[in-house]
Amino acid sequence: MKEYVNDWEDDLHIIVENAGEVTKWAISQVRPLPQFVDAKVALLGDSAHAMVPYIGAGAGQAIEDAFILGRLLASPLVSRNNVANVLKVYEDIRKPISQDAASRSLKMGYLMELHPDYLPEDADVDKVKAGDHVQLEKVANAMQDVWSFHSTNMPGECWERASEMLVQILEAVPRKDEDDV
Ligand SMILES: Cc1cc2nc3c(=O)[nH]c(=O)nc-3n(C[C@H](O)[C@H](O)[C@H](O)COP(=O)(O)OP(=O)(O)OC[C@H]3O[C@@H](n4cnc5c(N)ncnc54)[C@H](O)[C@@H]3O)c2cc1C
Repeated sequence: MKEYVNDWEDDLHIIVENAGEVTKWAISQVRPLPQFVDAKVALLGDSAHAMVPYIGAGAGQAIEDAFILGRLLASPLVSRNNVANVLKVYEDIRKPISQDAASRSLKMGYLMELHPDYLPEDADVDKVKAGDHVQLEKVANAMQDVWSFHSTNMPGECWERASEMLVQILEAVPRKDEDDV
């Protein structure tokens, strides 16, 4: 580890010196799944969209899945008869957002590593790596763009969309009185 950070700033040397035991482990991700739901079975959280951790979003996305799925299933009008349709609402709302988070997190990891394939097109790779401030600003802006997703698709707005879809589903496929979920 010390060898790896040899030509980095002093601050990093101090952190590594004081880290004690350093371990290394693989970080796995789930490639974009074509669906989160099949009939009455739904995946959520990391089982649906495990992602690399570079925008710190995996647990938040899992909680947002639970927020939408839990509120959908809490409707007293959901039953065995229509639960598969209701799960599709969860998938329609949550799949694009969580998969977008996963793809942004991967991109952020590459940006952090200054991977040439992921740097902005107008960035000069050599100058970026040499610490040129103008070039680094371009990388920072690209990171800001990736990060900006945190202020979009807020759970409350998503629930509004989900609840509108739920009303339509429940009208099309109403609960049968004899059914329980
Ligand atoms: C290095 C790193 C940093 C991260 N940083 C962040 C961050 O800053 N912010 C953020 O939001 N997210 C972060 N994450 C992601 C976050 O940890 C996960 O997205 C989140 O824990 C997923 O929650 P989950 O409930 O879906 O799955 P898990 O947390 O994996 O929970 C699944 C649970 O099911 C249990 N289980 C498995 N199989 C069975 C079984 N057969 N029977 C019973 N139980 C079973 C497991 O033991 C586990 O307790 C990070 C992840 C990593 C690896």
